[in-house]
Amino acid sequence: MHTGRIDTAVLLLHYGKYLADKDLLLRETFDFEALKLRDGFVEYGGFKAKNIVFATGFGIKNNPYFNYLPLNGTKGELLTIKAPALKEERVIKSSVFIIPLGKDMYRVGATYKWKDKSNTPTEECKQELLQKLNTFLKCPYEVVDHVAGIRPTVSDRKPLVGRHPEHENMYLLNGLGSRGVMIAPMASMQLYALIENKEAVVPEMDLSRFTKKHFRN
Ligand SMILES: Cc1cc2nc3c(=O)[nH]c(=O)nc-3n(C[C@H](O)[C@H](O)[C@H](O)COP(=O)(O)OP(=O)(O)OC[C@H]3O[C@@H](n4cnc5c(N)ncnc54)[C@H](O)[C@@H]3O)c2cc1C
Repeated sequence: MHTGRIDTAVLLLHYGKYLADKDLLLRETFDFEALKLRDGFVEYGGFKAKNIVFATGFGIKNNPYFNYLPLNGTKGELLTIKAPALKEERVIKSSVFIIPLGKDMYRVGATYKWKDKSNTPTEECKQELLQKLNTFLKCPYEVVDHVAGIRPTVSDRKPLVGRHPEHENMYLLNGLGSRGVMIAPMASMQLYALIENKEAVVPEMDLSRFTKKHFRN
């Protein structure tokens, strides 16, 4: 009731095009050595900016400024199946979920794994998902896609939003865990209010709850 699904692949594709058309998007791996912290601004390549915001999910592990934060990461895998006989428009939630995507395609997921930190889909997780799916899906289907990703999960399960403990032009938006779609709007509004209006981030999200860890390293 009163819920919806955001097609994040379509959202990212079109928002990326919107930014590229305005010449506001550069697609490259960030080179931390090229970042220069100046008094009151930052420099990167040919760019000068008042602030920098890192929003790199599990990529935070390669970020020398924020890798003190306890972001552990939880791997998840999803299948896409084609099931022409299913004819279901509602989301079904059992031991796994089935989400209708249209054209007889359905998304099935997800797994939760804490040790493996790769983005590679595994046969083990595929079998885990199929075994659970087969307990309640009783029509023929074929698997047409299988993907994996790392959820940016934090030890206390809360987002990581705020300013670096030492560098005042450096910010972070991360720790969205397994609910990025729901949490990102509020978390990014909190960050915007901090950067532009100097309004404090709600304590539950504020990364300053881990500042002691930064100075311990
Ligand atoms: C299987 C699975 C199912 C999920 N289901 C749901 C769901 O149903 N609902 C929901 O709300 N959430 C779901 N999530 C969680 C959701 O995907 C995350 O919360 C969300 O993607 C986090 O967003 P983010 O932008 O912080 O990080 P990411 O989506 O990980 O994006 C970070 C981006 O930064 C890039 N990057 C990293 N390092 C660098 C670098 N050095 N230079 C340049 N780019 C870099 C990465 O390539 C990536 O594009 C699911 C996750 C998984 C894995």
